[in-house]
Formats: sequence, C-alpha cells, structure tokens
Amino acid sequence: MAESVELPGRLAILPFRNKVLLPGAIIRIRCTSPSSVKLVEQELWQREEKGLIGILPVRDAAAETPTAGFSATAPPGVEISTGERGSKPQEEASDPPKQFAKNQQEVVHWHNRGVAARALHLSRGVEKPSGRVTYIVVLEGLCRFSVQELSTRGTYYTARITSLDMTKVEMDQVEQDPDFIALSRKFKVTATELISVLEQKQKTGGRTKVLLETVPVHKLADIFVASFEISFEEQLSMLDAVDVKARLSKATELVDRHLQSIRVAEKITQKVEGQLSKSQKEFLLRQQMRAIKEELGDNDDEEDDVAALERKMQDAGMPTDIWKHAQRELRRLKKMQPQQPGYNSSRVYLELLADLPWEKASEERELDLKAAKERLDIDHYGLVKVKQRIIEYLAVRKLKPDARGPVLCFVGPPGVGKTSLASSIAAALGRKFVRISLGGVKDEADIRGHRRTYIGSMPGRLIDGLKRVGVCNPVMLLDEIDKTGSDVRGDPASALLEVLDPEQNKTFNDHYLNVPFDLSKVIFVATANRVQPIPPPLLDRMEVIELPGYTPEEKLRIAMQHLIPRVLDQHGLSSDFLQIPEGMVKHVIQRYTREAGVRNLERNLAALARAAAVRVAEQDNAVPLSKDVQRLASPLLEENRLAEEAEVEMEVIPISVNNHDISNAFKISSHCTVDEPMLEKVLGPPRYDDKETAERVATPGVAVGLVWTAFGGEVQFVEATAMGGKGDLHLTGQLGDVIKESAQIAMTWVRARATELNLVSAEKSNLLEGRDIHVHFPAGAVPKDGPSAGVTLVTSLVSLFSKRRVRADTAMTGEMTLRGLVLPVGGIKDKVLAAHRYGIKRVILPERNLKDLLEVPSAVLSNLEILFAKRMEDVLDQAFEGGCPWRQHSKL
Ligand code: ADP
Repeated sequence: MAESVELPGRLAILPFRNKVLLPGAIIRIRCTSPSSVKLVEQELWQREEKGLIGILPVRDAAAETPTAGFSATAPPGVEISTGERGSKPQEEASDPPKQFAKNQQEVVHWHNRGVAARALHLSRGVEKPSGRVTYIVVLEGLCRFSVQELSTRGTYYTARITSLDMTKVEMDQVEQDPDFIALSRKFKVTATELISVLEQKQKTGGRTKVLLETVPVHKLADIFVASFEISFEEQLSMLDAVDVKARLSKATELVDRHLQSIRVAEKITQKVEGQLSKSQKEFLLRQQMRAIKEELGDNDDEEDDVAALERKMQDAGMPTDIWKHAQRELRRLKKMQPQQPGYNSSRVYLELLADLPWEKASEERELDLKAAKERLDIDHYGLVKVKQRIIEYLAVRKLKPDARGPVLCFVGPPGVGKTSLASSIAAALGRKFVRISLGGVKDEADIRGHRRTYIGSMPGRLIDGLKRVGVCNPVMLLDEIDKTGSDVRGDPASALLEVLDPEQNKTFNDHYLNVPFDLSKVIFVATANRVQPIPPPLLDRMEVIELPGYTPEEKLRIAMQHLIPRVLDQHGLSSDFLQIPEGMVKHVIQRYTREAGVRNLERNLAALARAAAVRVAEQDNAVPLSKDVQRLASPLLEENRLAEEAEVEMEVIPISVNNHDISNAFKISSHCTVDEPMLEKVLGPPRYDDKETAERVATPGVAVGLVWTAFGGEVQFVEATAMGGKGDLHLTGQLGDVIKESAQIAMTWVRARATELNLVSAEKSNLLEGRDIHVHFPAGAVPKDGPSAGVTLVTSLVSLFSKRRVRADTAMTGEMTLRGLVLPVGGIKDKVLAAHRYGIKRVILPERNLKDLLEVPSAVLSNLEILFAKRMEDVLDQAFEGGCPWRQHSKL
C-alpha cells in the first residue's frame, strides 16, 4: 500500500468508460486501440521506473447526467475491466474498426476528477494473424487528482492535474477532529461487521481484519467500497468525496447498505428453506438425484416407472380388499431405493397384481349350438360321440351359464385331437384359450406358487396362465393331468382338487399371490393319456371322454380333409403346386407311422411340404412371378427386343399377411405330385411293413401280444428260449412285478399241463429238467407292466416246448388264472386298433371282453377275425396252425 504519492503536474490520461478506479483498487486492463497502445508504450513501457498515468472516468452520452466535467469526443477504445484488490480475470475485448469509427463521433463527458495509477505489471502481446500489438496492464489506484486542463500528446490525452490528497499536516489535523474520530469508529464497526459476515459465509480466516488495524481509515474507506459492486453514480460520488469526513460517511453508508443487502438475502434464503415442506424437500432431493443420475448416464427413470405401475394397478379393477393390500405394498416400494434388496421382488409382485385379469373378461356371446357343432365339424373329422358329448356340455352351459357341471377330461393317446377339441370349445364359446402343461409337475408349488419369502419365488402355473391370457374367463386346458406325480414336495393333485372344486375355487389361494383369486369363471378342460394314474378324488370331479386312436381309414380322411390343407397353408403352398394323392397318404400311414393318433402323420406330411417348398424357392429365380408377366415378357425376349436402353418394368408383389396370396402369386407352371420315389427321398426308407410280424414269429417260442401304453394300443412280441441249466426262469425287458408274476403263473401252468399238451414224453415228466428258460419282451427300453400278457406268455412257452410256430397273423391279449381261466382286460378298443394297424388279421380276446367290441369302429372289425377264449386251451387252439398240440394229442 503506497503512502502519499508525489504527483507530477501533468499525467497521461487513460479514459475509463462508465467505470471508476478508486484509490487502493487494482484493475487489469487490455489495451488494443492504437492510442492506448501508444500511451502504454510511451508512458509505461521501457521506463526504468514504472510510470504513473491518470485514469479518468468518462460517461457515455447515453448514460449521461450532467456533472461537472469536460465534453469531448471519446478517445479511441480502451477496454477496461475493474478489479477488486487482488485480481479478477482480465476481460477479453478488442476494438473493431466499426466501433472505433462510431466512438469517434460520440460525445462523451470527461469527469473532472480521476485517480492516478501506477502500473504493477505490464505484458505485451502480438495478435496472431494481424500482427497488432496489445498490452495487458495491471494498475493500482493511488490518489485522487483533479483535472485542470486536457490536451493531446500524439494520439492520446494528457492533463494538467493537481493532487487532491491531504498533506501530512492536514491529515494530522483532521485526525484530531472529534467528528472524524466518531465517523472513523463508526466506519470501522460497520466494516468489521461486514468482514465477519463475509468470513462466516465463506468460512475464511481473519486475514482481512489485519487490514483494519494497519491501513489508515480514509484509505480503508476507498478499498472497502471498491471491493463490492455499486452503481457508476455511487462510484463517482465516492470519487468526488475528497473531504475525508464526507468520504467516511459515504463509505459507511455504502458498506452498511451492502451489509444489509447480504443479511436480507440470507434471511430470504433461510425463510424459503424453512417454508419448504417435507414433500417439497423430498421433491428437491429427487430432482437432485435425477440430475445426478443424468450425469451418470443412468437414465431409466424409476419414478416414472413406479407412477406407470400405479396407474396400471388402478386400471386393473382389483376388488377393494386386494386394492388395499396392493396399495400397502406400493407404499413400501415407493420408500425403497431401487438398489435395495427386495425392491425388485416387490415390484415384480405388484406388476403381477396389476397384470392379473381381476375383472377383465372376454365377452361371452350368445351360444349358438348349431354354429358350435359346425365349428367342431370343421375342425375335426369323425369323433361323432365326442362331439355329441361336447355339444351336450355346451347346451347345459347355455341354459345355465353358471352350471357347475363336471370338468371334461379327454383321455386318449397323443395326437388324437384332445388339445384341438379343447380349443374348439373355446372358439365355440368365444372365449380365450390357455393351455397349462402339467406333465412332470411333482411340486405342489408348481400349481400353487412359492411363498414370496423364497428367493426366486414365482406364482403357480394357473395364475401365470391367467396373467398370460389376460382375461378371467378363459377356457383353461389342464394338459396331461395324469402326468402329475407326488413326492416330498407335496401333492400337486390335491392343489388341483381345490382348483377344480367349484366350492373352493372362488377363492383360490396362490402362495405367491397371497390374496384370493376367483377361478370360478374359468372353464376347465383336462386331458390325459390314461385314466389309471389320475388320483381317484380328482377323477371324481371329471367326466372322462375317451378318444381312441384312429383307424387307417379315419387317418386317411383326417389327412385329406384337415392335415394336408393345414400343412400346405403353413408352408405357403397351395394344392395347385403340391399334390399328395390318397395312395401316397396311405403309404405314409402304413409304412411310416404306426401310431394311434395323427401327430407323426402330420409331421411327415409337413416334411413333404417342406421339401416341396424348397423346390418352389429354387424355381423362384427361373420362373416369372405371375402368369401375366410371363406372357408379356416372353415375346420380348424371343425377338431380342430387350434393347439395353429399354425400360424394364418390375412387378412388385404386395406383401400380404395371408399366405394364400403369396402362394397364389407363386403359381408355378409345373406342379409337384408326391410319388413313391419322393416319399423315399424325403422320409427315408419305409419304417414298417406287413412282413414284420411274420418274420418275427418265424421261429417257435415267439407269440404276438397286444398291450396298452400311454401311446394307445401296441403290438408286443414275447420271446421265449431254452438252454441248458437248472430249471430257472429268467425274465428281461424292464418288467414290473405284475408281469413277472404272470410269467411265473404261465410257467407253472405250462409245467402242470406238460404231459397233457404233449410237451414231454411220459417217462420224463419234468419239463424244466436240465434247462433254463429265458423270456424276453423286446423294446427293452420301455417299461412294461400289467396282467394282460398272461395268455401270450403261455402261448410262447407252449410254442417253445412243442417246437411249433405260432400263427403270424394272430395277436392275443388276456389275463390268465393259475387254473387256466382267461380273464378280461382293459383297453380292448385300443388294442384291437393297434392289431389292425400292424396288419394282424386275427385277434384272440377274453370272452368277457365281447361287450368292449361295441366301441371298435366297424370298419376295423370287418377287417379282423375276432376269436374269443374262455380258457387257456381255447387260446392255444386258435394260436397254432391246425389247432393246439394237446388237441392233436387227444385226437390220436
Ligand atoms: P393331443 O392333444 O391329443 O395330443 P392334438 O390335439 O395336439 O393331439 O392333435 C394333433 C394334431 O392332429 C392337431 O393338429 C389336430 O388338429 C390334428 N387332429 C387330431 N384329430 C383330428 C381330427 N379328428 N380331425 C382333424 N384333425 C385332427
């Protein structure tokens, strides 16, 4: 801090536009105009001792209010920036020529008082492309002066001046003045207050306070006022306060005002903060959080998601209790952070609540029984009785929509149309259809869901299915209900019992959902391959409708009327292109599929269609897209008129959703008819032929049985052979206990009748002497059980011991007692159909199964010779060419 300065009589003057430099303040200015550059170069630069210049405020004509001073043309631009003590970044400014020209004409008022300044720092720069020299000067205001006279030196101004600073003597005098003392004390108090407020705000140490003790008070006044922003007018009045007392009171006023404004601002902030309610605060924090997230690029907006979820929940139409429960959960969710454990599970749970069809239902239209019947007929060939039963079921529903009739359960081998019948029921009722697969479900939680306390808990399949289908009144197919098992994890069947019980399913309780859901509007239909595995209480709630397998004739009709059109459609082909003649379908049925249903048949037909589709796709390049285009294009090509510049028009086929349109567009001149070579090429060599049975029973010891599996009826061979041994019986082929016992019984019976049957000579009564018997059921990978192989076992053993072949065209089934009685068995219909499929001509059945033949289609029966047996001897009599050995014996 400079002490009082000796000022020269004349000073170079730098005009200071609309700004005032006060003594004690420091500014940094950038001089770009030629006159100011000149001034700096001549007065400050290259001087040993850095020189002094005068800074004189000038006032724009626009900002003008007359004060004492000079009016003159503004000197060429000096760009200035004020600086508080310390420093401020320099303001970048230039002096474009246009502005310069304008400035020259402008009338400005020069103030008659200024402040002498000393350069603290000078730096020279050269602007790059133009090469113009500029200076940056840091100036410190020293003392006031007044201007006596203004003149020019070269391009810049100079002024004759007198210093306005007090001499030491004057100063000493003033310091005695009680007014001055009072004023300076007052100023110091205010200044101290300002300093402490500022320090509190900025949390800085007490460096500024040192100033108060060391610097004379009249200088302090200038320094303090220069440190905060005040208007130009106030700056001028401060400059004009030459009298120290006036200066002190002015400064006290300004400092005090500044102090007050800081306090008021603080109060306002506090007040505003205090008034913020909790929710506003939360909002503010959320806004901040959002800003932070945006910064982090974490844009998924949880809050919007939760709001969307809430809206969805409101639209879900939950019953009041459940709505309350859901809201409680939602409140919990809102309080959680997305990263918090449990947030996600809570969210997923609420999503489920919102997605479930609490009241959304497909509108049930007035049931038209005739239309429903037509629909069933269109979708399915044959199945007259089944369709009849379905119509009855629908009729009851029509008369009493909330009728609690039994649940329909379609039982039959795979591919007989159980699923598609169920979906036809849905279509007839105009309801949505959803299939729930129960195959392999062993855990009760699969039906009822896991409690939410488990990690990875989920709703059960029923609730999941309802969420998928989105309505509360669908037709729900419980597929493969016979395949549910029970183990340590509970009994799914008992959960199903609750589902199917009209009394209980109004409030079905899924463990995951934890609130009751009304299943009473759902129409349940079940399917099963077999009845036996279905637990009796469950079976009790259902009405079993059996679907036996199809006869080859039925399969042919189904293929021609339903499967082929569907398969062609699925592959984007038309019957114009691919033709599968009846003869070939028959081939596929007989040689490539031997199943009760039509699933493999459909698969094989699809394979043919795929092969044909490849041909279409290959020909596609060579063949024009439509006949019209072809006609038009060929003469052009023939006459070679397709010159290079000729415009070629392309026909664009509009993409259509309907496959028919596309396949019509692909109408290709040649069409493809499936023949035997194509069958072999696509499906491989035939898998089955009629000679199989004959070949397999070519040696004694083999008999043909009929069994019943989950896939419907099957033909089962039984092979027996003898070898040296100790009379043991070996059994292989994955047999269950019942079938093993049957084998024992059969063996015993044969041994007991050995002589009668002429199997042993009179002297050698033990049939097993010196030999072991091995009975095998081929297809060893398939587990087998049941009593119905009894007669077949005996027949194979008799064949083995008598060394006579069993008739290859005869198959048999029946349980046998130890005494040789033949007892009836189940699944006759399927077994007879299976025999028919295998090309068997004669079937031996227990006599008491006669009634079951009523269910066998007459077309099948007409092709078969059915023989009834009461006793085992009857079976043997029919099974061997020329009758039973024992009969032969008796004849002799
Ligand atoms: P399942 O459920 O009994 O295993 P699907 O219902 O899945 O059998 O039937 C298999 C395929 O056979 C389906 O494409 C179905 O339309 C067809 N199908 C079965 N039976 C008939 C039939 N009687 N008439 C027409 N198509 C049938």
